[in-house]
Amino acid sequence: MYQIIRQKRKTVSIHIDDNMNIIIKVPQYLKTSEVNRFIREHHSWIKKRVEQASQHKVENDWRLTGRVLYLGEYRVICRVTDPCNEGEIVLETDQLIIKAKDVEDQAEAERLIEQFFKRQAQIILTKLTDYYVGLLGVSYNKITIRKQKTRWGSCSSKGNISYNVKLLCAPDKMIAYVVLHEVMHLKHFNHGQVFWQEIRQIMPDYKERMNYFKQFGQDFML
Ligand SMILES: [Zn+2]
Repeated sequence: MYQIIRQKRKTVSIHIDDNMNIIIKVPQYLKTSEVNRFIREHHSWIKKRVEQASQHKVENDWRLTGRVLYLGEYRVICRVTDPCNEGEIVLETDQLIIKAKDVEDQAEAERLIEQFFKRQAQIILTKLTDYYVGLLGVSYNKITIRKQKTRWGSCSSKGNISYNVKLLCAPDKMIAYVVLHEVMHLKHFNHGQVFWQEIRQIMPDYKERMNYFKQFGQDFML
């Protein structure tokens, strides 16, 4: 499925979303015939990208693999039918157990997994944020957890910090880098030299942790 989005831009961009839709962003005034010509000319390239994306999904999407990354470890997803259970997720060492009235209800399973990750994210990321906030002697307004494609975190000038729920796929050591980065923005609202200097003082191996997300981040699918 092609989805053409017209927007203020100079070039054409193509990307494939998690549902294998092909999103093509084009300059606002590009003629439909031009758009069609572009698609025709890039047909084999697009086809190859779709194949790569679906292969990536088969290897990383818990709905297909039956296992999910949680704090850097794969947990096998088990389903237990329990007529008395309103629906919950129980975390065991190497398992994530979905307990529900009807465990075959996929939409319910997805809702429970998302809810589990969001709740855990709120707890774990708040704890880490509070730690670094104390260390730097700054303060924040609130923390929001969102599901985002590539952005791991952000911090507004009003002190609102937002984290990607997918961070919880990473080991806590790696998560700590993203938290320190956002908390440092409460002190320095830029990526200047002092910003990185102070990050390095607290976390000398911050570059390795940053690279971890570049290397493995695309494998985090929730
Ligand atoms: Zn930043």
